[in-house]
Amino acid sequence: MPVTPPDDTLRTIGYAALQPGPRLLVMGGVHGDETCGTAGIERVRAELDGGTLTLRRGQLTMVPVANPLARRRLQREGERNLNRSFQPRTAPVDYEDHLTNLLCPLIDRHEVLLDLHSFESQGEAFAMIGPRDNTGTLEPFGRADEEGRLARALGTPTVVEGWLDIYAAGLAQRAGGAAPTADEIAYGCGTNEYIRSRGGYGVTLECGQHRDPAAPGVAWRAIRRTLALLGMAELPPELADEPPPAPPRLLRLASVTDRLHAGDRFVREWATFDAVSAGEPIGHRHDGALLVAPGDGFIVFPNARALPGSEWFYFATLSERRLG
Ligand SMILES: [Zn+2]
Repeated sequence: MPVTPPDDTLRTIGYAALQPGPRLLVMGGVHGDETCGTAGIERVRAELDGGTLTLRRGQLTMVPVANPLARRRLQREGERNLNRSFQPRTAPVDYEDHLTNLLCPLIDRHEVLLDLHSFESQGEAFAMIGPRDNTGTLEPFGRADEEGRLARALGTPTVVEGWLDIYAAGLAQRAGGAAPTADEIAYGCGTNEYIRSRGGYGVTLECGQHRDPAAPGVAWRAIRRTLALLGMAELPPELADEPPPAPPRLLRLASVTDRLHAGDRFVREWATFDAVSAGEPIGHRHDGALLVAPGDGFIVFPNARALPGSEWFYFATLSERRLG
């Protein structure tokens, strides 16, 4: 179990090589009950301080516990979800507002973000990336290739794209088709959306189930592979000897379905990335109406206990995009 911070102070660890290069920020513990990122960061810190890892160029900053209050409570949140409404505030109110005001300027000084998380249900690690290059208003972006290369280098079997698009579509659905306000969309923005809005790019890595003993190793590998990809450090021999990871399966979130009533039920227990065929039953509304898969695809983030009016499950399809 990684060290728990003794108080609510945000701690950062910084290394700067004499040679200029990329500025990488690695964050763990944005959610307090997700400890694998902290463990991975502490292992890399020990390697750097012990001399078995040398930073060749660029700058590496690591935040082992991005939400100290949530970590001390071993809960997802301190006073609210730190990974929502992630933007600076002129009048911070709650604990996470104050943290965000410390973390945003830190992110501003970096160009690449690796944000390390874990999840509650059983399942294998996956990465989440942002939009394709676009000049739209929702999430304009121009670094999709670099972001895709990073996601691919992390080596998870699955990568998911399209979060903010579908988040905004969900808002419109709930409002009967009315366009969501800027504030409503901002609520869906976390650390990665923030760094993209500042000209950088970022990948969220979900390292596995919260208590999966393999998850800290997934986090550590991810940091070491990111440093190698960016030319900031060598891969350790045990990773250099591994065959390169197979290209991941890329899924594109296509829709979100809300649970509308406490009587809405899944036809069976779903896990993230369960494959479904067009027309396959997914759940029943409380009035008996059957919900079926709109096409061949995958169930993502199912939540059988979702509060009525909130996200019940996402549906994703295989994406034709090539990463990097
Ligand atoms: Zn998380």
